[in-house]
Amino acid sequence: MNNLFANVKKIWREAFSALWQTVLNDRQLLKKPPALRIEFSDHLNAKRGARLTGNVAFTIEVSSQFALNLHRELRRVKNGLASLVFDSASAQRTRCGEVLAAVEQLTVGFIVLHEIFHLIGGHFDWLKAKPTSRWTFKERYQEVPPNWRTKPSYSAIADAYLLESEADCSAIQWMLQVMSARELQRLLQTRTGHIQFFFGRRRLAAFRLLLASVWLAIRRLESAREELKFNNSARHPLPVTRVFAAFGTFLMHYSHVSNVRFDAQGGAQHTLTDDDVNTIREFLQHILSPVLKCDWNPASPNLPPESLEAQLRFYLRDYGNHLLNKPVETIAGRELIRMEKARFRMDRSLRSFRYYRSAKLERMARRRRTGRPARHS
Ligand SMILES: [Zn+2]
Repeated sequence: MNNLFANVKKIWREAFSALWQTVLNDRQLLKKPPALRIEFSDHLNAKRGARLTGNVAFTIEVSSQFALNLHRELRRVKNGLASLVFDSASAQRTRCGEVLAAVEQLTVGFIVLHEIFHLIGGHFDWLKAKPTSRWTFKERYQEVPPNWRTKPSYSAIADAYLLESEADCSAIQWMLQVMSARELQRLLQTRTGHIQFFFGRRRLAAFRLLLASVWLAIRRLESAREELKFNNSARHPLPVTRVFAAFGTFLMHYSHVSNVRFDAQGGAQHTLTDDDVNTIREFLQHILSPVLKCDWNPASPNLPPESLEAQLRFYLRDYGNHLLNKPVETIAGRELIRMEKARFRMDRSLRSFRYYRSAKLERMARRRRTGRPARHS
């Protein structure tokens, strides 16, 4: 047990050191960020996962129990993970250990980077500067005691949730564009540094594994949320929205759909060519579907209906509608649009607090009612 925990801690510490060093050397850094370190806590609840604390110098505090749970969970679903890389049953069996090592490095890396982007994305300073902010930087804001006289409004919760989503998407983008994933390179026998430049079957495998790693991390963090059971979008954004927003970042890199624009209200608009439509379909069919269809509950005879994966499968079709610019039909589709609009507004107010260049959100040149294209502003 102690030996196991020592191993797990080593994985986290090594991931953190490598990633933070790369961030500090990254030319997209706008100004020097505060000092940051990682620490394990026996007091932090496993449901909380990891959190960023500090004022002048910062710490990523990781729940010891969470780190151990995650380590064990990956081992429970190892067969599913191996099937995302190898078709043959014998390769799935013999190379399972390598797949696990790669996935663990990616999952831990994603969680660490998510916290790093809370810091360098300016989220911490933004919340601190907010005059109306009564809350400290608490990601698990659902822990606000139920007997509080004034419950936070939907928009306050949506703001906090949006920061979560932005930290996810920034981490994923960085992992695809900047990070070198050693274990993944070893597994796929490639020297190509960045996942976005992987080619052919390696590209397929790398996108599936990274997507599965991110999915497993978010799933573990979101499963602690009571809203998952009630699926109540009036009180809180749906967890599926966070996951779909994360998947969107993968799609944009997989399909090179770079011309997602935002109209004056911040609603996303895609100007899709036939090629775009084909690669979006390819992404849904060959990357997203295999990951979602994996058996993530090997101990259970059927898919637990209240699970996040059951909800994702239920809303997947509408997610496709949204990506392909068709009208959405479900609450999740509508919320995705609502969150995208909010993200645009928030990006503007975060700008002066950022330590790192954020992904550009381009304004859409909207067509006027006459059908003539509007001039670029
Ligand atoms: Zn967070």
